[in-house]
Amino acid sequence: MRTVAAIIVLGCLSLSHAALAAEDSPHERFVALNGLRVDPATVYELTTATSIELRRGGVQIAFEEGKLAFFNALDGRITGAVFSGRGHALAAPREAVEKQQMALFLGAPVLDQEFIGAYLRFTDETANELLRQFQNAGLQPQLDTPFASRWASLLAQINPSHSLRILVEGLSQNPQPYFYAGLEGIVTGPFDIIYDTSRGEPLMIGQPRKNGDNSFYDIWTSSAAPGAAPLSSAFHALQYTLDTSILANNSLDANSIVRIRTEVAGERLLIFQLARSLATTSVTDERGEAVPFFQNEGLSPAERYSRGNDYLYVMLPEAPRRAQEFTLRFRYHGDVIQNAGNGVLYVGARECWYPHLGDSANFAGYDLTMRWPRRLRLVATGASLDEHEEGDSRIGHWRTEKPVSVAGFNLGEYASASVSSASHTINVYANRQLEQSLDNRLAGPPPDMTANPSVPFGLPQPNSQLGIISTTPSPADALKQLAKDIDSSIRFYEKFSGPFPFRNLSVSQIPGTFGQGWPGLLYISTLSFLPPSAQQRAGLSVKNQEHFTDLVPFHEVAHQWWGNIVGWSNYRDQWIDEAISNYLALMFADSQRSSDHVMHTWLERYRKQLIEKSPHMDRPADEIGSLSLGNRLISSQAPEGFEDVIYGKGAWVIHMLRQMLRQPGAKNPDARFTTLLQTISTKYAGRAFSTSDFQKEVEAAMTPSMALEGSRSMEWFFEQWVRGTGIPHYSVEFTAHRIDTGFLVKGKLFQTGVPRSFIAPVPVYASGPGGHSVYLGTVFAEGPETSFHFTTPDAPHKILIDAQTTLLCTTE
Ligand SMILES: [Zn+2]
Repeated sequence: MRTVAAIIVLGCLSLSHAALAAEDSPHERFVALNGLRVDPATVYELTTATSIELRRGGVQIAFEEGKLAFFNALDGRITGAVFSGRGHALAAPREAVEKQQMALFLGAPVLDQEFIGAYLRFTDETANELLRQFQNAGLQPQLDTPFASRWASLLAQINPSHSLRILVEGLSQNPQPYFYAGLEGIVTGPFDIIYDTSRGEPLMIGQPRKNGDNSFYDIWTSSAAPGAAPLSSAFHALQYTLDTSILANNSLDANSIVRIRTEVAGERLLIFQLARSLATTSVTDERGEAVPFFQNEGLSPAERYSRGNDYLYVMLPEAPRRAQEFTLRFRYHGDVIQNAGNGVLYVGARECWYPHLGDSANFAGYDLTMRWPRRLRLVATGASLDEHEEGDSRIGHWRTEKPVSVAGFNLGEYASASVSSASHTINVYANRQLEQSLDNRLAGPPPDMTANPSVPFGLPQPNSQLGIISTTPSPADALKQLAKDIDSSIRFYEKFSGPFPFRNLSVSQIPGTFGQGWPGLLYISTLSFLPPSAQQRAGLSVKNQEHFTDLVPFHEVAHQWWGNIVGWSNYRDQWIDEAISNYLALMFADSQRSSDHVMHTWLERYRKQLIEKSPHMDRPADEIGSLSLGNRLISSQAPEGFEDVIYGKGAWVIHMLRQMLRQPGAKNPDARFTTLLQTISTKYAGRAFSTSDFQKEVEAAMTPSMALEGSRSMEWFFEQWVRGTGIPHYSVEFTAHRIDTGFLVKGKLFQTGVPRSFIAPVPVYASGPGGHSVYLGTVFAEGPETSFHFTTPDAPHKILIDAQTTLLCTTE
């Protein structure tokens, strides 16, 4: 009897997708998938003799001993199984950076974990594979109702996060098999293994984890199949028409239309980002027919980590043809506008306030109509076409001049100042009052310097008598000067990045410590609007004061080109726009205050942060991971990992490229570097720019002295500094002998702290008795020890490495 049941199950599994019950609505199917439970008649007893295992994407999951049972079938398909007992999961990532990440989270570069329970979901051959192995091992299914019922409440809880992914599989004409294993690790606690070919990187292993009150998703490893082509999105947004009302209570009510082009035929699911606080009431098509949608039902843990789980899934009634265009209308309402007190409002950090399709490389037109309470001012992405009053409301209309990847707005009881030129207008907006939390900090007794969670980047300095201020500063005081400085930065950046891409730039204040550069609109932290005395009283160290005053506003200005014109689509390329923006901000700050050596000061600060532990980090930033990890740098191990690694190491990487391209003594020593950036900003305008594109562009601009591997390749540089971790440490031994033309300096350069294969052009200088250093030449360090010899007119006292701050390294 039980044998027969197993055979029926096997037979049913071979049914094609066409056999799925077509009459059920997506919602009915979703509910049915959520309701799946363990079939008590399919419990298999495994022993150490049976050796049942699954292999997915190089991961081996062995079920050594215990009980394994299948879910009930739905439409003849089994999509789940559970296991309780003892098992073992093994995985060894290939790439160095993935090994490094495994080691960061697990203490070893491989996954080698025992588990005591498993929850499996799949649309692939898992059930057939297991049944075949059970048959070969002579196992028969048992009826075990208590075992099945023990799983009921857990399945009710976990099923919904897999149902949509499984549902989509049945509706797609291009099915991409899905495999998920949630394992209860003995040492690690629960962790996820995903092998999903609909993802750009099918294999992902990781786990949710808390650090204090904050939740993170730690990705232990993620990888693509070798040589796999990147996946293309099935749908591309062409035009957003967003009609948004902000009501007296600051809640938002909207009616938006998105025009979409189909890029890949056969797909029915569109995934929009939308803040979870915005409830969608309807999605309709061109004929006004309701289109089924799901909001905030997570696709999978892998989807959840990538951009939060604020998703709106829209299921088209039928798959459009390739190149077919269609529109969807959305109605939604809710609270995305936060009130920071004292009339300071803002749109919640990183919240998506409209249904946004695609990634940062989906450039589209935007038409924005906004209604808001008359007492407030509102600024938005695009050119302002009209603004007028109607009763208690103001109504404004904006339209983008060119396709952009995202649109934003900000509002408040603003004062403003502007600077205009023939090519652009800059309007700076700031609240007259400080947000409540900052007001309290400034009005109250000197803050507790050690308990200040909202200030990033290290502990604030102890307060001093300088902190005493008689009146509360207003962010509006800084408006005129900031407008002028921003205008100067635009002129400075145009040399490297081409003409400013927009007619208008609105610069608006946002509470807290974060900033963001939307197309034509900046969010700048209140702290950037405050004078040094108030910044200090708010608990900022000298370094953080300089960060908020000298870098933050101008970093965001640079994003107008780098991020808003030159886009990115894969998290592994996200570092580029950040690195270039931060480096250009350093160059601008340096140009404004040349006597202060701003560039040098920041490069030294970043170097220190990369190689030393600090009170706010329990490991040097470089040990968190490589630049190419992008958002993955943010984890329970390093909550500030993105800023700590990307800004510092990113700036150093751009700096090293600039130094290698430099032509000392030329009329414009930076001509090659300038041309490189201009070429990129022109060639990649309105599309994604990847790390391999960057490498190609550097290779087109490189000099023979940069060809360390002999050929015209910069692979060595990108592999070591972008995709890798490790900062070399150098020391030298040398002797100097008098010869006819001066002195012959012979020596050895020792390289440690990096893999043996690490290569670098190391500038070597001789210091004379007066402390003056003379450039001897560049040693191409290969491995732990490299010999060198130079001639020099004077006897060297000492040999110095990197005396001009051109190489990220440490020396004795
Ligand atoms: Zn940035």
